[in-house]
Amino acid sequence: MNARYLTLVVLTLIVSLGPGCTSKKEKEPSSGSQLCVGACQTPEQGKAQLQRFASSYHNVKEWEARVARIRKGFIHGAGLDSIPERYWERPFNAVINHKHVMDGYTVENIAIEGLPGHYITGNLYKPTKFQGQIPAILCPHGHWYSPGEYGRFRPDMQKRCAAFARMGAVVFAYDMIGYGECTTYRHDDPEALKIQTFNSKRITDYLCSLDCVDTSRIGVTGASGGGTQTIYLTVVDPRIKVSVPVVMVSAYFYGGCICESGMPVARSATHETNLADMAALFAPKPLLIVSDGKDWTRFVPKTEYPYIRNVYTLYHAEENVGNAHFPKEGHDYGYSKRKAVYPFMARHLGLDLNRILNDSGKIDESFVTPLAIQELKVFPDKPVAFLCGNVQYSPSSPLYDKKRGK
Ligand SMILES: [Zn+2]
Repeated sequence: MNARYLTLVVLTLIVSLGPGCTSKKEKEPSSGSQLCVGACQTPEQGKAQLQRFASSYHNVKEWEARVARIRKGFIHGAGLDSIPERYWERPFNAVINHKHVMDGYTVENIAIEGLPGHYITGNLYKPTKFQGQIPAILCPHGHWYSPGEYGRFRPDMQKRCAAFARMGAVVFAYDMIGYGECTTYRHDDPEALKIQTFNSKRITDYLCSLDCVDTSRIGVTGASGGGTQTIYLTVVDPRIKVSVPVVMVSAYFYGGCICESGMPVARSATHETNLADMAALFAPKPLLIVSDGKDWTRFVPKTEYPYIRNVYTLYHAEENVGNAHFPKEGHDYGYSKRKAVYPFMARHLGLDLNRILNDSGKIDESFVTPLAIQELKVFPDKPVAFLCGNVQYSPSSPLYDKKRGK
């Protein structure tokens, strides 16, 4: 178990003792908003909750009435309806400071303005050559923070983005707030969930503004906290056409970080949901759930996936939903998981999988050369913020090097 995973587990234990939907027995939505933090239900309670949800709709009309209620509750709980209209329509003021030409793909260091005075920082991957309009994929990252495995700079992340780009997509990998170069806000900002979801929508706006992007083919995928962001974006933005949340879909675990569960998006006087139910809101569009045997997604094949598939059945769209489960694997977006995701994205976004196959016909990422953090930065002279779990340590803190594992 690595340090990051241990932090999440410890955090989960801590938050599970705190206030939230901690009922030992099932109960209906209470009055007012209520936070659902971390593992605030048992797996059995999560399963029973899904069964209760499923008994409340029997056809597409009833399901879609529920979808509208959940979506409205989420948007209000996330505070997105309090963001002034003019903030959604501001110019992007994009800063692109470097373009790396790689083997079949390029990487640009990019920042766009989000909320006023706040830059969303990241990297834009593209195919080296392309014609006309091509699909786009958003790649949020999770709470990986150890040296060499940090946020959007992780080699795993670079491989995934480069492979999508070489297959023919524009890919935007972006920092969570308080991570990397996105330092206007701390990661433990009480409104982190709102800001990050706004950022994901803002990046979707930006991608849709590019002449080279086919706005009918937008995908999103991320793992862990990036999986939470993936699900949240699909809840609030109908422009997303393909979704692949990795190692995050769960009926009982709501994400242990303030950026995932620090605002009342899952429960209010008018709605009640969980991450598996939120993922199902994407039906009937293409959805691949990636799960593993060692975290809160270990029950997906028996609990969450049947629930989600049943929703797709209402639309007769079972062919659009899948579950890639790795019972012997853990909490990551490793090679075997990426190998399951590439064909799904290729099929549903119209990408060319052949561009990442070797002479033996196998998926081969050896064309990817991971770049160093300094090479990927938009603002070369600005220090990168390093986090440990949810806690941000400044370089002047005596804990800084210690917490980074040095
Ligand atoms: Zn977080």
